[in-house]
Amino acid sequence: MDYCAKHPQAAATHRCRNCGAWLCRECKFVDGNGVFCSAACSTEYIKNHSRSEAVGGQGRVMKSGGRLGRLVLLAILIAAAYFALKHFGLLPEGLGL
Ligand SMILES: [Zn+2]
Ligand SMILES: [Zn+2]
Repeated sequence: MDYCAKHPQAAATHRCRNCGAWLCRECKFVDGNGVFCSAACSTEYIKNHSRSEAVGGQGRVMKSGGRLGRLVLLAILIAAAYFALKHFGLLPEGLGL
């Protein structure tokens, strides 16, 4: 049996989702995100949670940006190769280019 961190006589019914402190029925703070020991722990938990989601979102944006960058680089290489071939007269006659 575990006891409340603030009330050693009271049986703990829940643990804080953020700091893991044992809580009795009187101490638990419940909101839409779970059970916490205080509003401060709830705020802290949400802050940590949303920060990790934001980092993941940035990673996805950077990946798509890199893919776009490679496509642009490929287009530039193809255009450069085309103009180099045309400039040096290396394109076959009668190709219509
Ligand atoms: Zn807590
Ligand atoms: Zn308590």
